[in-house]
Amino acid sequence: MQQNEIKTTCSYCGVGCGIIVKKDINNNITVEGDKEHPVNRGMLCSKGMNLHYVAKDTSDRLLYPQMRWSRSHPYDRVSWDSALNRAAGVFKSLINKYGPDSVGFYVSGQCLTEEYYIANKLTKGFLGTNNIDTNSRLCMSSAVVGYKKTFGEDSVPISYEDIELADCFFITGANPAYCHPILFRRLEMHKENNPDVKIIVVDPRKTDTANFADLHLQIIPGTDIVLNNAIGRRLIERKKIDKNFIKNHTEDFEKYKKHVQSTSLKNAADICGITVDEIKKAASMIGNATGFISMWTMGLNQSAIGTYKNFSLINLSLITGQIGKPGSGPFSLTGQPNAMGGREVGGMANLLAVHKDLLNEKDRNDVAEFWNVDKISPNPGLTATEMFDALESGKMKAIWIICTNPMVSMPNSHRIEKALKNAKFVVVQDISKNADTVDYADLVLPAAAWLEKEGTMTNSERRISYLPKAIEAPGEARPDVEILCDFANRMDFNGFNYNSTSEIYQEYCAMTKGSNIDISHLNYSRLKNEGTFQWPVPSSGHKGTPRLFEDKKFYTPSQKAIFNIPATTKNTSEHPNLEFPLILTTGRIRDQWHTMTKTGKVSRLKTHYSSPVLEINNADAYVNKIKDGDVVEVRSANGVVRVRAKLTNNVRLGVVFLPMHWGKQLQSDLNRANNLTNTLIDPISKEPDFKYTRVSVSKYNKP
Ligand code: SF4
Repeated sequence: MQQNEIKTTCSYCGVGCGIIVKKDINNNITVEGDKEHPVNRGMLCSKGMNLHYVAKDTSDRLLYPQMRWSRSHPYDRVSWDSALNRAAGVFKSLINKYGPDSVGFYVSGQCLTEEYYIANKLTKGFLGTNNIDTNSRLCMSSAVVGYKKTFGEDSVPISYEDIELADCFFITGANPAYCHPILFRRLEMHKENNPDVKIIVVDPRKTDTANFADLHLQIIPGTDIVLNNAIGRRLIERKKIDKNFIKNHTEDFEKYKKHVQSTSLKNAADICGITVDEIKKAASMIGNATGFISMWTMGLNQSAIGTYKNFSLINLSLITGQIGKPGSGPFSLTGQPNAMGGREVGGMANLLAVHKDLLNEKDRNDVAEFWNVDKISPNPGLTATEMFDALESGKMKAIWIICTNPMVSMPNSHRIEKALKNAKFVVVQDISKNADTVDYADLVLPAAAWLEKEGTMTNSERRISYLPKAIEAPGEARPDVEILCDFANRMDFNGFNYNSTSEIYQEYCAMTKGSNIDISHLNYSRLKNEGTFQWPVPSSGHKGTPRLFEDKKFYTPSQKAIFNIPATTKNTSEHPNLEFPLILTTGRIRDQWHTMTKTGKVSRLKTHYSSPVLEINNADAYVNKIKDGDVVEVRSANGVVRVRAKLTNNVRLGVVFLPMHWGKQLQSDLNRANNLTNTLIDPISKEPDFKYTRVSVSKYNKP
């Protein structure tokens, strides 16, 4: 590698592709895929290939702290001293008056591990509240519960290298062709080289991923559990199960068997809106596989019954014994680059660092002792949507939002707006003034972006990468850890006087010693010199762990995996009615990322879609007198969206699809999909029900 080349990792999705950043003598930056990186082997998707434009274009960046003394006043540019003194003053006064649970932090799966760790230490260890949650709650908290309940801990068992070793894939509620493109490319190449490999895709939409499948099960939204159970039932009936694995390494198979036998294949097919033959075909592909991998993301997780959907899916890996061996396992793909890192350091309201449990007194005491504080509060913290509910009701008074844009990304945007307006104090720490949430802040703090700070991230397959600092942040923007530690010192907390980010990482690594995610032998030096590592890395010469559970010993007390039985197979979402007869599902498009604060400023990424469109089935469009390209109004009980219609048979009859990216980019909040989405959450994982909102669609006639 030449001196002006830096190895780093893509800051978009959870695939975690290696990138080489090149700087010329004028400090111009270009990027290319790292051919030596085990994840992408030189490949990059459209978003990754255009990352340098994001780093180069600072026209949208927040450059200095800004503050307003009341909501009716304009923002003043202030010094970092004034900004953080005000933040500390307000937090101290609110905590004195209303108690520690009156404040909270809302962070992001795009934060680096060190930032996540410090934010959690500050909140849970020192502010005395567990009110810290992350936008990863919106993506994969149902999968976290699924893993924990099945394996005893939140542990993704497999690696990308298992893709090339498997011969059957069950991709459900995911569109990796758009959302995890390089992972999908690896799958495509594997299939091209091995035509016998079978790919099953479950999705109410005929996506590019579904187009590639041997079998597309275009189910009615919300019927995943019934489908998964029917496949399980068929596998049992056909004796395509691993009796030895079930007997020796699992618990509660008999309960599972009884549960799946309660619905006939015919009933299941009717409920799912597919044929019995399709169920049999899927079961046959899975049952005949040597290596079976399931992959899923938001389509399964973002549901009022997301946890149960996860149970029903992971159970298919258990009955077939397809776990802890090459080319097999249930693989929850993370959407954000460091959603996994956040899970490791306890970045959710119900977790503690190192996969410790907030409800366990010993775990709380261990963490308190490590941080040298009296105690960790036993009160569960508020989760993402609960925090905004609490702001709206006045129970919570202040929120500090880091690297996420809830005005666009949270369900029911109008409720989020009410909550932010009702809060006594809102801090927004971000890189871009184009994040809609910035407009609701009392204090705006400019943060350093990708390449402007150092730290680590963990991708979907537990792979930890080091990201070096390569360029200076513009204006007065500072790394997030520096901002948080500065604030903590102004709160008079001991334990935040680090000399470097490396020291923070060392503290976290030391905390993992002896745990199932032990990385106590890792440090920046090893990551820089030896490359990436998959946790655990339990000894100094250890090279990392690509695959978990090869010894078939799980993390439950019995060391057996547990068959968890969904308490219901029925979708508990709000069902369509006469007023709102269609089901809205939301998702991503290929070239945009989250709320477009980064990808939205790259012109070439707008050539795929320059504005949002509503995908509607041709027959639904006909009934509603809508033609292709018409401007339509989509209405739900929560709000309105006005976009152009795209007629297609790629969505099921009765289903419409909207991309979730657009906020104020098009000078109107009528493009924002989350104006419509409902406020239901899964009662266990607390993940929102983004994939099922009842709506009506009509042609918009300009008044
Ligand atoms: Fe970046 Fe994901 Fe694309 Fe890889 S697949 S280049 S990590 S956005």
